[in-house]
Parts: sequence; C-alpha cells; structure tokens
Amino acid sequence: MPGTATVDAVIVGGGAAGLLLAAHLAAIGWGDDVLVLDDGAQPLEDRAWAWWSTGGALLDRASSRAFEVADVAGEGWARRLGLGPYAYRVVTGPELGEAVARIVRTRRGYRRLSGTARGLAVDDAGVQVAYEDPDGRARAVRARWVFDSVGPGAAAPVPDPDAVLDVAGIRIETARDAFDPAAVTLMDFRTGQEDGVAFAYVLPTSARTALVERTVYAGPEGLGGAADAHEARLAAYVRDVLGLGEHRIVAHESGTIPLVLRPPARPDGPVVPIGARAGMVKPSTGYAFGRIQRHSAAIAAALAAGRYPGRAVPHRRWARTQDAALLRAMRTDPAAARGFLEALLTRNPGPRILAFLDEDLPAAEHLRLYATLPLPRLGLVVAAGSSRRSR
Ligand SMILES: Cc1cc2nc3c(=O)[nH]c(=O)nc-3n(C[C@H](O)[C@H](O)[C@H](O)COP(=O)(O)OP(=O)(O)OC[C@H]3O[C@@H](n4cnc5c(N)ncnc54)[C@H](O)[C@@H]3O)c2cc1C
Repeated sequence: MPGTATVDAVIVGGGAAGLLLAAHLAAIGWGDDVLVLDDGAQPLEDRAWAWWSTGGALLDRASSRAFEVADVAGEGWARRLGLGPYAYRVVTGPELGEAVARIVRTRRGYRRLSGTARGLAVDDAGVQVAYEDPDGRARAVRARWVFDSVGPGAAAPVPDPDAVLDVAGIRIETARDAFDPAAVTLMDFRTGQEDGVAFAYVLPTSARTALVERTVYAGPEGLGGAADAHEARLAAYVRDVLGLGEHRIVAHESGTIPLVLRPPARPDGPVVPIGARAGMVKPSTGYAFGRIQRHSAAIAAALAAGRYPGRAVPHRRWARTQDAALLRAMRTDPAAARGFLEALLTRNPGPRILAFLDEDLPAAEHLRLYATLPLPRLGLVVAAGSSRRSR
C-alpha cells in the first residue's frame, strides 16, 4: 500500500492480552505508533479476571480485591490455605481498562482503533492488517509488528480444544451475613462428580453477596445435554453445602473455557500470537491472566533488547506433559485425577501449590511436592492411554 505510513505495531484484539501488552510496551517506552484494534464485541464492562501473583507485576495493583487466604475442601476434609507471598486477585474489566489507560496515556502515539480485523498479509516490509471500520467500510493499516489475539482470516482461528472447563455460575444475595469476605473458595469437591471431575468456587464480594460457580472438566464438546444437571448440582451445592438460608439469585452466568495442549498459533515472522491464541490458558487450570502478564513483560523486554519477540515464552515446556497427563486422567480415570488434585491441595502449603501451578517452583521444592502426589497412579493412567492409542 504505497503512501500509507507504517505504524510500529498493531495489537489485534483489546481483551486481556491486547490491553496487558499495550501497557507493558508503553511502560518501557517502546514504539511511537501502537494501535489496539478491537471490535467491541466483548465490552470490558461485562468482564473480570482472577489470578494469583506476588504483587510485583505491572498490572497487579489494578485489582481492587486481593485475598490472602483461600479455602479448599472435599468429602470429609476442609482446609484454609495462607497464600502469602501470593495473593489471589480479581480485576474487573473497567478497572483493568482504567489502569491500562493511565499507563498508555504517557505515550502519545498509542491509540485504540475500533473495527473488526479481517486479515493479515505478511510481505517484505511488514504486515498489512485489513479491517472493517464500525460503518462497515474496508480499511487497512500497515505495521512493523502485529501482536495477534484473534487470528483474522486464519483457516481455523479457533481450533478444536482438547477439553473444556464448563462453568455454571450464579450471583447470590443473602438476607443475613453468610460469606467470609476475606476468603475465596478456590476448589470445593463437595458437589456431584457424575458429570466429570467437578468443583465449586465461591468468590465473595461482601458478607452477603457472592459469585458461586460449579466447574466441570468436560470433553471437547462440553457438557451439552447435561447442562441442566450441571445447574441442578450447583443449586444443590448452594443448598446442602453452603446452607445459605434465605437468599435470592441476582444473575445466572455460564461459559466454557477451551483447554488446548498445543498453542493454537505459532509466530510467523512479524506476526506474533498473544493471549489464548498463543497458548496462554494453562490447560490444567483454565487460568491465563498471570501468564499473559508474564508473556507481555517478556515480549516488551525482547523488543527493548532488539531480540525477536516471538520466542518470548513465559512457561515451561515440560509442564505441558504434566498438564496433558492430568487432562487425560480427567477423561479416562476421573477418580485418579481428583485424587491428584486433592493430594496437591491437602498435603502442600498454599504458596507451594500456587508456585507449582505457575510453573515457578524451585527444583528442591518441586521434589517435596512430587513426594506428596499419587504419581504412580497418574503414570498408569497415562501409560494406559498411550498403549490404547498405539494399538
Ligand atoms: C468465561 C471465561 C472466563 C474466564 N475467566 C478467567 C479468569 O478469571 N482468569 C484467568 O486467568 N483466565 C480466565 N479465562 C481464560 C481467558 O481465556 C483469558 O483470561 C483471557 O481473556 C484471554 O485473553 P485474550 O486476550 O486471548 O482473549 P480475550 O480477552 O477474549 O480478548 C480478545 C479480544 O478480541 C476482540 N476480537 C475478537 N475478534 C476480533 C476481530 N476480528 N477484530 C477485532 N477484535 C476482535 C474481542 O472482542 C476481545 O475484546 C476465562 C475464559 C472464559 C471463556
């Protein structure tokens, strides 16, 4: 496109990954012209993210809520975990948007572009990003780098997942104090396990209000026809385990988090995938925000140092083998998978669990943690899966 100026970067998609990357690039003072192209289909007002961290990352302080303790429970046991030096954080979309805007404001050439990305074409001089503006007009912008959380024009922008987390949630208001606003319930297995390994999650927003979710590790197709039973088991958890008394349900929520073992997209020259597209959703937990933040910092550091940003990987490759084993067990031997998670949660201190899930545990601590886990049983499940496949 002769005559068209080339911007330093177009970030395609202004969700978690797009916003966090824009903030990290602005914070290190990289780039004169950086555009965040977003279609507005997922307004920030409707979004929120939870993650854990030690507080030193750029957007950690954007969270309005940080829990220092977390509850975990199963049939016949319950445990409160101290999380320090970690905290379990929750940021709403508007909070994140404001925190990012404060950082990005320091760079004049950073702009938000409303539109729907339609295609990326790489040539010798960079990338041409084709998009449709809000009035439906076809437009294009040229960039030296594209950081892509969307995959416009890709043959399969969203590949089939290996599994999904199927989530049903309700927002509850009680007549009397019923929740401990200082503690989040991360995993409570005291919910029906007939539809797969399932756990409840309780995020209190006050002593009388909370988000209560039930999550099931389901196959790639999700729970489908079993969704009604999912809702019924969530209601049973509220009634029988939480025993809330008089309450009203303010809102229902549901969603599925695709879990993929291989990153859906690989870097292609100046086009670098970010976010879920770059494999930032941890397959065994469904959490992505902490990884995305580390990925953003690594991309920014690479650019600042003149290195190729497509090689910035914030997680360990060996951890994928572990995640694959756990996902396989979820399908073939749910009791073994649940046993693994329960051992992890009951036999280890909170910070060790969180560091393990972050793939950030020092070697000696790793050995201590492995000694607490039923690894032989998980190994058998994996071996059985491999021999079935090879037959
Ligand atoms: C229901 C649900 C809840 C989750 N909760 C958490 C959580 O609490 N904590 C956590 O760590 N992870 C969570 N995840 C995992 C989640 O995938 C990531 O946290 C995160 O949102 C992924 O970031 P992303 O930027 O890749 O995608 P998104 O945040 O979804 O951002 C993609 C953006 O691109 C825009 N877009 C799409 N197509 C186009 C197009 N053609 N042109 C322009 N813009 C486009 C979208 O509108 C959106 O704004 C959740 C996932 C789901 C599905």
